[in-house]
Amino acid sequence: MLAAAFDAFLLDLDGVVYVGEAPTIGAPSALRRLRRMGKEIRFLTNNPTGTDVIVKRLNALDIEAHEAEVITSGTVTALFLAEHNVGSAWILGQTSLKKTLQSRGVSPLSGPPCDAIVAGWDDGITLGNIREAATVIRKGALFVATNEDRTYPDPQGPLAAVGTLVEALIAASGQRPLSMGKPQSPMFDLALKNLKAGKHKTLMIGDTPEIDILGAHRAGIQAVLMGEAPAFPHCGDFRNPDGRISSLSDLFNPGISVKKWDLPSYQWPERVEAGVAAVVLDDDGNVLLMRRSDNGLWGIPSGHVEPTETVKAAVIREIREETGLETEIERLVGIYSDPRSQVITYPDHRIRHFITTCFLCHPCGGTLQSCGPETLDTAFFPTEALPEPMMTMHPRWLADALAQVKEPFIR
Ligand SMILES: [Mg+2]
Repeated sequence: MLAAAFDAFLLDLDGVVYVGEAPTIGAPSALRRLRRMGKEIRFLTNNPTGTDVIVKRLNALDIEAHEAEVITSGTVTALFLAEHNVGSAWILGQTSLKKTLQSRGVSPLSGPPCDAIVAGWDDGITLGNIREAATVIRKGALFVATNEDRTYPDPQGPLAAVGTLVEALIAASGQRPLSMGKPQSPMFDLALKNLKAGKHKTLMIGDTPEIDILGAHRAGIQAVLMGEAPAFPHCGDFRNPDGRISSLSDLFNPGISVKKWDLPSYQWPERVEAGVAAVVLDDDGNVLLMRRSDNGLWGIPSGHVEPTETVKAAVIREIREETGLETEIERLVGIYSDPRSQVITYPDHRIRHFITTCFLCHPCGGTLQSCGPETLDTAFFPTEALPEPMMTMHPRWLADALAQVKEPFIR
């Protein structure tokens, strides 16, 4: 049974311990049993309210809880701002969030000037506030979201939550926030920090695959789903739980077990995108390389496929944009999708899984330009004397292009 197999339990609140004003079936007695067994318990909630408020709410439901066991997105936000020496923050949130920040030495303000904008929970926020906050973000203030949950469960159905405010600020400021709550890592890092049990003896229990299960898996923690949610079709999806329970009483059901979770070497990408790349060889067999302005690395020309564009048109356009050369496609080198090499993290924290179609091409016109908006330098190099530093996968694609095989590679 799960209660015996693990030493620490991380519990989501909304939908797992309570729904609205009522505890979930069996929650108070299951939590009492876990405590009698000496298990460590942490309550993890994206609700940025004060830990004292959460403790009172749990106690009112006949559930023992202590402030040190409660980790809210407000707690994580306050710690983060303090650690980053943020002196003042405009809090788009309730008094309890302001108090949490103040306790860590961050001055909570109700408008600019400020070092940071913190998106929390406040029913009184107006479009005027959003407009002004977005302007402050554009001028360089740190943009922090307590969490990005768009809705929260309620007996009458899903209701708008902090994420809807965050989306409005993203739309108006053109920038993405640093997010503190689940499924991002700061909340799990904080939960694990003060546990005696190691990561492998800790179990997360949540009701939302995209938030609780994904967050735990990113942190390398096993996770069970409480309630009903359809599985994602790919078995390696981080959002698929390692087991399922219908109530917290199931933690004591001897028939329920969980699979192991082995954290892959790659991060969880927000989406899959189509990319193209080109091995361009001149008449002497030299390969065209460009030094990218985004990361300073040498690589073969590559880029995104735009909406409605074919991969052939995309690769010819990318080569032209990056080097000034016109090219003809000779053949397909391969299609590359292995997440171990195709999941890319950008400097602005976006994470993408690229399916890249790579072609072998030859120049047929144009003039080689040494630099451009995406390019610091361009040149043809002998294939046995490539410059450094180089994009990780590109030597592999070049070797595939030079291999004397008829069939394209599928890697
Ligand atoms: Mg929940």
